[in-house]
Amino acid sequence: MLDKSPSTSTVNVPNDLAAHWMPFTANRAFKKAPRLLAGAKDMHYFTVDGRKIIDAASGMWCTNAGHGRTQISAAIARQAEALDYAPPFQFGIPQAFELASRIADLAPAGLDHVFFCNSGSEAADTSLKIALAYHQLNSQGTRTRLIGRERGYHGVGFGGTSVGGIVNNRKMYGSLLTGVDHLPHTYDRDKQAFTKGEPEYGAHFAEELERLVNLHGASTIAAVIVEPMAGSTGVLPPPKGYLKKLREITQKHGILLIFDEVITGYGRLGYAFAAERYGVLPDMITFAKGITNGAAPMGGVIVRDTIHDAFMTGPDHMVELTHGYTYDTIHDAFMTGPDHMVELTHGYTYSAHPLACAAGLATLDIYRDEKLFERALGLEPKFADAAMTLKGLPNVVDIRTIGLTAGIDLSPRADAVGKRGFEALNSAFHDNDMMLRVAGDTLALTPPLIVSEDQIGEIIEKVGKVIRAVA
Ligand code: PLP
Repeated sequence: MLDKSPSTSTVNVPNDLAAHWMPFTANRAFKKAPRLLAGAKDMHYFTVDGRKIIDAASGMWCTNAGHGRTQISAAIARQAEALDYAPPFQFGIPQAFELASRIADLAPAGLDHVFFCNSGSEAADTSLKIALAYHQLNSQGTRTRLIGRERGYHGVGFGGTSVGGIVNNRKMYGSLLTGVDHLPHTYDRDKQAFTKGEPEYGAHFAEELERLVNLHGASTIAAVIVEPMAGSTGVLPPPKGYLKKLREITQKHGILLIFDEVITGYGRLGYAFAAERYGVLPDMITFAKGITNGAAPMGGVIVRDTIHDAFMTGPDHMVELTHGYTYDTIHDAFMTGPDHMVELTHGYTYSAHPLACAAGLATLDIYRDEKLFERALGLEPKFADAAMTLKGLPNVVDIRTIGLTAGIDLSPRADAVGKRGFEALNSAFHDNDMMLRVAGDTLALTPPLIVSEDQIGEIIEKVGKVIRAVA
């Protein structure tokens, strides 16, 4: 039997840091110099020792409406009192249907159905599974290949990791999913450095999809998944025309196009979804983060009518799975499949959780009432101008801006890639009272959409100090 007596426990003080194995964190360094947060309001965090930290990262691209929104916390509290949990399989709550309708209203026309999950990772994997199942239904079951992009991030599930293109996230996990390929990323510093908004150069990178189609055959390819703006790899706005070209090529070859809008959704680029900014209609959009302003875990996939309807017309595919019918029989059964059968064998215990639905509805009210997406769009030029003033500081080799987001590349230290970025994270937090995100040696600035012009100035001034401090 395990000895649980206090004398052998590693957790012997309330703030013992040993037990918690932190995600995507340099645990050993953190535990030597913890960055512990205790509270948050509007544009600021408060540390356990009472310091006020300006949030230049929206937590983790989540809190678009700023922190501590009482409208959201009150909605969560009311919901917890009224109905704490309801099974999402075979039962429903009105708030889930209302939230799905509100999200569909925000999405481009034709994307009218929402499948809920709890995170961006689950959203990515869900979208890939829907793509595979859809092609089976559509009598194109040979379409099993999934295509992601170098430097893409789609979370940490096996599907998302497989289509993702960040080497450190992949290399420890074996062969991952088979039958996956990757488009090249769209970044070329020589041609794009210090661009505000979408770079002129790089639409042709989409044509690499034709090469992959020629290599594998269109009939083997199920879906292409990309972030409209690659965020986690260090803010890579799409080159002008790139996403349109991807849409043209996918459409020509019957390949589904999935936009992972976990970061770009809910106002980050000045629109409800980047699909709207770029005038490109994908077949599915994944979302998470901003849907609840980070106040409760939630993610989801917005699905195009034609895909959704293929599942709902008649669940003949489930007859096949259950009874082993031949394809022709299935086809005959298509219109008459029994409606008691589950159309998509996929979902999570916490899909459309009542507290997350309450948070989502309150969050969408705030976005609408405070016109935060429009606000972000209006602030974009000022934010870009402010970020570009950092050009010329030591080691700054590129600055990219889009919406209320900027990526600042610092040249790596000679001895280790990512070390200067890590030092910047610490300098910001410990010495400059600021939270920013880093990806390797790239600093990412993504403040809440409520940020004032003065606060943009304050953030940029502090980033300047950080960059000098890690020179
Ligand atoms: N997809 C994108 C584009 C993301 O940026 C992220 C997280 O940053 C994810 C998926 C994964 O989301 P989560 O961490 O909620 O699983």
